[in-house]
Amino acid sequence: MLKISRADYDLIRWEAERSYPHECCGILLRTVHEGQRVVTLTITCENMRCDSPVNRYSIDPQRIIAALKLARHRAESVVGFYHSHPDAGSHFSSTDLEEAHWFDCSYVITAVERGRASATDSYVLRGTEQEKQFKEEEIEIVANAQPLRIAL
Ligand SMILES: [Zn+2]
Repeated sequence: MLKISRADYDLIRWEAERSYPHECCGILLRTVHEGQRVVTLTITCENMRCDSPVNRYSIDPQRIIAALKLARHRAESVVGFYHSHPDAGSHFSSTDLEEAHWFDCSYVITAVERGRASATDSYVLRGTEQEKQFKEEEIEIVANAQPLRIAL
């Protein structure tokens, strides 16, 4: 199960619409000590695939390194990645599976139909590099973080 705040969920879907007809992409961080996967930060990224951005995506490796450093600084880790499927379903493609290398991470996919985000689904990468597979996982949208309460 992937737990995500309403704000992060909406951001991912808005990014998918904003990038249409290209694919959007980004990185998701989570807290390390939680038994469940709880997204704590959404890092939006440029799609580096200039040759075929309508049906491929690529995140700048430098951006991933920066995200890993940020995660370490926050005592968090990378929980997964998101991207969109312009005018295609939210199911992963064979290319998505081929290009996925982060085991036990979530791959969130949002389908965009004529510019409007429709389904958003998540898959966890399991197995090994030789025999890998995506397992569907539930997305639970939780309330936004509460603002700090200041005792007076
Ligand atoms: Zn895809």
